[in-house]
Amino acid sequence: MTPQVAEARQRLQQALGAGGLLEAPEDLAYYGSDRCRGGWPVAPSLVVLPRSIAEVQAVVRICAALGLPIVPSGGRTGLAGAATATSGEVILSLERLARVIAVDSAAATLRCEAGVTLQGVQEAAADAGLMYPVDYASKGSAQIGGSLATNAGGVKVIRYGLTRDWVLGMKVVVASGELLDLGGALVKNNTGYDLRQLFIGAEGTLGVIVEVTLRLCAPPADTLVAFVALPDDPAILALFARLRRSRLTLSAFECLDHGCVDRVREHRGAADPPFPEAHPRYVLVEVETPLADEATVEATRDRLMDVLADAQEAGEIDDAVLAGTPAQGRALWALREDISESLHRYTPFKADVALPVAEVAAFLGAFRPLVAARLPGIPALVFGHVGDGNLHLNLLRPPELALADFLARCHGFEDELFALVRDRRGSISAEHGIGLLKRDHLHYSRSAEEIAIMRGIKAVIDPAGIFNPGKIFPPAE
Ligand SMILES: Cc1cc2nc3c(=O)[nH]c(=O)nc-3n(C[C@H](O)[C@H](O)[C@H](O)COP(=O)(O)OP(=O)(O)OC[C@H]3O[C@@H](n4cnc5c(N)ncnc54)[C@H](O)[C@@H]3O)c2cc1C
Repeated sequence: MTPQVAEARQRLQQALGAGGLLEAPEDLAYYGSDRCRGGWPVAPSLVVLPRSIAEVQAVVRICAALGLPIVPSGGRTGLAGAATATSGEVILSLERLARVIAVDSAAATLRCEAGVTLQGVQEAAADAGLMYPVDYASKGSAQIGGSLATNAGGVKVIRYGLTRDWVLGMKVVVASGELLDLGGALVKNNTGYDLRQLFIGAEGTLGVIVEVTLRLCAPPADTLVAFVALPDDPAILALFARLRRSRLTLSAFECLDHGCVDRVREHRGAADPPFPEAHPRYVLVEVETPLADEATVEATRDRLMDVLADAQEAGEIDDAVLAGTPAQGRALWALREDISESLHRYTPFKADVALPVAEVAAFLGAFRPLVAARLPGIPALVFGHVGDGNLHLNLLRPPELALADFLARCHGFEDELFALVRDRRGSISAEHGIGLLKRDHLHYSRSAEEIAIMRGIKAVIDPAGIFNPGKIFPPAE
């Protein structure tokens, strides 16, 4: 332990009291990394668990005074290595700031501490008859602070937008230890630069989000779920265009390759397949009904069936099933939502990219043969929120290939992959952020001028660079 860490340890213990500081090797390993398997060293010096905003401020002041960097840490479900501590940082976990403070039904807002899980936020909203619509599979562990710090998206972006669209206000502890109170319940506040937006998606590099005020909305009256089998990638966009024209209210349009369904069924111990025969591609479609009464639900169901029947007649789709009960709807959703979990043990190399929607099929038409040519023997599986042009590209490690060799081959392919994305005016990170994982490829999506401005913002808000150094871009020299 360096003298600096020993000093910090003593001061932090005093500030946080019993249970506020962890240093056992298993705790350092547990809190020291996220769900991204990047192969970086995991080496935090200490883990702190403050219980209040005042304690977060105390931690930041102590670390800043001693020049010890801090990694703000949420549920560590991130997929870009952004919550990983590689060289002696202090992990500042928000897990004990987990109070829902208030739900205002009239204003349709929710105020909570940053460590409340996404699921906790959704449940508190639902208890008040309202909805927080940002939704994704790691909601049981991902925290709302992490959700803001990554500007998380998920499966309903097509209808409800990204986390950024639901943030009314937040409180942030900055490097001086001061607390910035960036709006609360105000809907209108045109008073210069909107500083909130800087902290959303900043991946913990500018400060610690400690409290959040979110907008809520009314939940849909009812939803209908269909699972559709398709022959190829262009058919996915043809169906999307058809549904867009139909005036049905689409709330999800998620694509998945057949291999994803196989992996999910294998992972779960083989549930029934959605169709008797395998099909190359599938799309999960969810539509909202305007009212919950039987006649409206039936009319929406008929309309959806008509659209799918027309698509089948036009040769765009092979088959479709419509969930008849909420349980069937959940089972179809599980085929999509369980993919990440099911692929985890194949140590997949993941790339989360965004394309203009119109470019998705052409991109996949170039991506799939490129993988086959450059990475023979490595299967590629694609799934994603195709309604917003967001594809999750997964390369799976064959069992006979050592992890290090597999990662080396995949990393050797990244430049070609990202060039393909850039050439179609896409983004190398749709919703998972940059973190450590894509730091060295940021230039494929951001110009030198943009990166210089981002560095300038970092230098103003965190002049000594104590927050999450090395994430998004390398630390300043
Ligand atoms: C199965 C699975 C499915 C997923 N699906 C999606 C999806 O559909 N869409 C999507 O967008 N993401 C998805 N993710 C990624 C991940 O869940 C989200 O990025 C999530 O928002 C991260 O929240 P977290 O609390 O786990 O953050 P962490 O992983 O702990 O941290 C992520 C980043 O946020 C920073 N951070 C965390 N808390 C704070 C805070 N309070 N203040 C400042 N900075 C902070 C960290 O320093 C780090 O840079 C998925 C992940 C998994 C494992």
